[in-house]
Amino acid sequence: MLKAREAVLSTPSYHPPLAGRVGLRLDFNENTDSCSPRVIQRLQRTRPEELAKYPEREPVEEITAAFLKVKRNEVLLTNGVDEAIHLLCQAYLDRGDEALIVVPTYSMYAIYTKAAGGEVIRVRAAEDFSFPLTAVMKAVTSRTRLIAIANPNNPTGSVVSTDELLALAHSAPQAALLVDEAYFDFYGKTILERRREAANMFVARTFSKAYGMAGLRLGVLIGDEEQMRVLRRISSPYNVNAVALACLPEALADQPYISEYVAEVREGRERLEHALQERGIQFWASQGNFVLMRVGHSKADAALFAEQMRNRGILVRDRSADEGCEGCVRITIGRREHAKQLLQTLTLDQLAHTTGASRP
Ligand code: PMP
Repeated sequence: MLKAREAVLSTPSYHPPLAGRVGLRLDFNENTDSCSPRVIQRLQRTRPEELAKYPEREPVEEITAAFLKVKRNEVLLTNGVDEAIHLLCQAYLDRGDEALIVVPTYSMYAIYTKAAGGEVIRVRAAEDFSFPLTAVMKAVTSRTRLIAIANPNNPTGSVVSTDELLALAHSAPQAALLVDEAYFDFYGKTILERRREAANMFVARTFSKAYGMAGLRLGVLIGDEEQMRVLRRISSPYNVNAVALACLPEALADQPYISEYVAEVREGRERLEHALQERGIQFWASQGNFVLMRVGHSKADAALFAEQMRNRGILVRDRSADEGCEGCVRITIGRREHAKQLLQTLTLDQLAHTTGASRP
């Protein structure tokens, strides 16, 4: 029988629960509404020739670089941030090399590390999910070739300061440090302006969240020019499709649309966090477009909660399997009307009762 590489066979499979997503989508941290109308208009103007031709990434990279105020050669457009993570693992991890992650965090860091033949070194976040800088620095070895940090982190919504990230980058010059800013728009703080202080630092952004284009698959990786040249060597020249490339300039040009969406998310996040706090239900203050909350004591409690929400027309994500997240679900915050529907559907008083929460 044809046998895949050992590293591939030992990679756990990851099946995001995408099937049968009928209802209000508060399970994947997507935009709950739509992308900018300018993107839709551009899609409607798509010409057959655009689809017949191989896509040209460079002109759109130039526009993206100008938008981000970085140099053109510091930017690589990718098929979602997922491809950027994949490329970093392929570029820097030899068999047995270590990739350091702080858990709980985004699953794909571990999956692409394993597929590349690397070892995943997991450092547990503090009890309150704050960033354990000292423990991370202690876990760095001469074999550490990648450190992946989501900032804000998924699923906890916690953040790391720029100073801490720079200190980490300087303490491990042999490792690529990926600062995954997939949720940057909802946080508003970035390390991008200071990235050049560490040549081993990469920053990733996605157009899957605030921009509402998860289905188009668009991400961007920013890093040192020399390193980016290496990464470009192993990326397909056609990794981003023509339709996505045509839409990106329109999406970037419509910043009022993004600001308005982000403002609604922040308002909804505040309302949900306030409601949870009032009832003494445990949650973690989030800088993303989602809130992680404890709805029970066990995996079964979280599964039951997610099922009950689904029956009421709202999809939420059971995160019980994540380290330190037993009994927890993650709920995406979207448009104002969706946050309202969520708050009307969540039976918080009943939840406070079943989780044994008491008013603080
Ligand atoms: N990074 C983080 C932290 C995420 O949460 C996600 C999506 N869930 C991604 C990357 C993937 O983004 P993309 O859709 O751009 O591949």
